Amino acid sequence: MSARRFAGGDLVVATHNPGKAAEIAELLAPFSVNVLAAGALGLPEPDETGTTFEANADLKALAAARASGKPSLADDSGLVVAGLGGDPGIYSARWAGPTKDFGAAMARVNAGLGANPDRSAFFVAVLALAWPDGHVERFRGEVHGTLVWPARGTRGFGYDPMFLPTGAALTFGEMDPAAKHAISHRAVAFRRLVAACFDLPGG
Ligand code: IMP
Repeated sequence: MSARRFAGGDLVVATHNPGKAAEIAELLAPFSVNVLAAGALGLPEPDETGTTFEANADLKALAAARASGKPSLADDSGLVVAGLGGDPGIYSARWAGPTKDFGAAMARVNAGLGANPDRSAFFVAVLALAWPDGHVERFRGEVHGTLVWPARGTRGFGYDPMFLPTGAALTFGEMDPAAKHAISHRAVAFRRLVAACFDLPGG
């Protein structure tokens, strides 16, 4: 079955994080899309009650699509650590607490691993594009690597300084942002979304 395509016009970006909304708007700039921010429309932010990245991306996209009457795009992402049974996973943001202390969250990941020789991990991003009639198209991207300690670098955000992508010499925290964006989980998911649902101008 081929994916339902986005017909152009308004697209609600269902995030209340202005940084994420701006990043998605930038990625969508080449397409005939009029990006509207969920926060600016006054749409409520649903609780992330799902138990998978997919479920949380779906519920955010569907809530925005139903409330706005327009196609809506949401993402859910996180770090999956094999030696921690998949944690922090969908709880990646929550491990940093209300003060968003990712230094503490990374230290907790490292302490949890202890002397475990398996330091493999991957980032996941799931993008969900939902329509007001309840239809959803979903795209997943992953980037695999290992966790280093001490963490290295001050670029990026979240768990970037402890994540060394497979085959790379620099952590995401040390890398030029363009180098990260070329291989990141979000970029992979985004390329899949665009290939399936969007028309290039003039294409
Ligand atoms: P979300 O906003 O619920 O999708 O939470 C995503 C959380 O996962 C972020 O707050 C970060 O902790 C983590 N995360 C997701 N993507 C990245 C990334 O590219 N680098 C570092 N941390 C990330």
